[in-house]
Amino acid sequence: MSRISERRYSEEEESLVAAMNLVDYLRISLVDRCNFRCQYCMPQTQDLHFLARAEILTAAELMTLIRQVFIPLGFSRFRLTGGEPLLRPDLVEIVREIASVREVEDLAITTNGFLLADQAADLYGAGLRRLNISLDSLRPETFAQIVGQDHQGQRSWQRYGQGFKRPIRLDLIL
Ligand code: SF4
Repeated sequence: MSRISERRYSEEEESLVAAMNLVDYLRISLVDRCNFRCQYCMPQTQDLHFLARAEILTAAELMTLIRQVFIPLGFSRFRLTGGEPLLRPDLVEIVREIASVREVEDLAITTNGFLLADQAADLYGAGLRRLNISLDSLRPETFAQIVGQDHQGQRSWQRYGQGFKRPIRLDLIL
C-alpha cells in the first residue's frame, strides 16, 4: 500500500475538504474593459493595457467550460462581471445560454448600470433576474468626480433612472 493511501486526515482537514465541496458559486469576468474610469480602479491618469479580443473567451468557449468543467465540479450559481459586462456585445446570448442550463440555480450580473436602460429588457427576456449595480454616490457631481470626466452632467446621471425602471430585481450597494 502506498504512503499516500495510508494517510489519515485530521478532523480539521476533513471539515476543510467538506467546506471546499460546498463552494458552488463562480464569478466570471466577461471583459476587462470599462466605460468608467473610477479613481480606485482604472484612473484616467494611469496607462491601462487591455487584452486583445482574440485573448478573451468566446461565448462558445465559455459555455463549453461551464457545461463540461464547472457544472460537473458542482458549480450552480454564477455571476457575470468585468470590467463592465454590459460592454460585451454578445452578453444577451451568453445570459440566455447560461440560464438555459438545467443545473444553473442562480445567475446574476454586476454592472455599473450605465448601459442598462438599453439592455435591461433583452437581458430580462434572456432569463436574467438579478443585478448588482455599483453606484458610488447619489450626488451627480461627486459621482462624476469618482467615475471620470466623460460622465459629468445631468444626462449621464439620468440614464441610471431609465435603467432602473425595468422589471428586474435590483441589489443596490450604496
Ligand atoms: S465601474 Fe467598476 S470596473 Fe469600471 S472602472 Fe469603476 S470599479 Fe472599475
